[in-house]
Amino acid sequence: MKRILITGGAGFVGSHLCERLLNEGNEIICLDNFFTGAKNNIEHLMDHHYFELVRHDITNSYMAEVDEIYNMACPASPVHYQYNPIKTVKTSVMGAINMLGLAKRVKAKILQASTSEVYGDPTVHPQPESYWGNVNPIGLRSCYDEGKRCAETLFMDYHKENNVEIKIIRIFNTYGPRMHPQDGRVVSNFIVQALKGDPITVFGDGKQTRSFQYVDDLVEGTIRMMNSRDGFIGPVNIGNPNEFTMLQLAKEVIDLTNSKSEITFLPLPKDDPMQRQPDISLAKKELNNWEPKIQLREGLGKTIAYFDSLLKQKIF
Ligand code: NAD
Ligand code: UDP
Repeated sequence: MKRILITGGAGFVGSHLCERLLNEGNEIICLDNFFTGAKNNIEHLMDHHYFELVRHDITNSYMAEVDEIYNMACPASPVHYQYNPIKTVKTSVMGAINMLGLAKRVKAKILQASTSEVYGDPTVHPQPESYWGNVNPIGLRSCYDEGKRCAETLFMDYHKENNVEIKIIRIFNTYGPRMHPQDGRVVSNFIVQALKGDPITVFGDGKQTRSFQYVDDLVEGTIRMMNSRDGFIGPVNIGNPNEFTMLQLAKEVIDLTNSKSEITFLPLPKDDPMQRQPDISLAKKELNNWEPKIQLREGLGKTIAYFDSLLKQKIF
């Protein structure tokens, strides 16, 4: 049994990670400031003997004897990370410093949840880890993109200077149950709109692409990365290479929900990347042939069922 700290553990991805690692027999400390996370996401774990919830903000230091740290804390939706951009930078940068300091003191292995956003609006397609990216340092998305880039720098430097055992994953667009209904990300937006019969809000002409990964595939890849061979630190892309335009996604959601919703076109937000697709050869090679198992229609089906049940309970 390992004692594992999961920052952002009450969020969408963090809660799935808490559940999986707890079920595998580990002791979990779930740390969250509840900015975008919710107790609902973890309430089914609360009675578990080896689950502990701590309300804490990672911009402040934290001390606990742990074996491993999954640093997942950071708002991931553009709507939320742009709400207070300075706080977003602090969460990524000061949060990384605090968690790396903890890892150094207690000799814990630490994994950073980085992002495909480090590639910005990519000019190389698909994106391999060797691509340095095309990021605007002073735009609307910079607080998130540059914060995550700086966190990667800090991870590498703590590794080089202090021998902290690190792992870095770059997560591509991930969706699934426990996304916040008002999260603002495209998959949850389209599903909620379709279920309510509201217009589906496609930004721009809808020809921009993303590659959508179901959350279970991400959790599997993340845990395999934490357990990967000594000396393999990444960064490694974790995503589903199947690429779709936002119009294709809208049509798929309308089809799966039998919705009467119409598509409406709204302006494209500034600096919105035009295309995104992970090259996952490194993950396959290093993570024991890891690759996504759940394709879009199946994953959307599970996610639609989740939002449908929230709607029936009048939770939103
Ligand atoms: P989320 O917003 O659902 O979860 C983030 C969690 O972190 C929330 O519970 C929030 O309350 C908590 N948090 C935020 N700031 C904090 C702080 N200062 N101190 C303590 N807790 C804090 O987002 P998610 O989709 O679950 O993303 C989890 C991680 O994965 C994030 O680091 C995100 O950047 C990364 N990521 C996610 C995606 C994706 O598509 N879901 C893609 C790339 C990277
Ligand atoms: N998007 C959209 N309608 C929405 C929300 C998002 O068309 O209601 C688009 C957005 O402009 C972007 C893509 O969907 O091109 C993915 O957006 P999301 O915020 O989910 O993730 P990110 O841009 O960070 O990849």
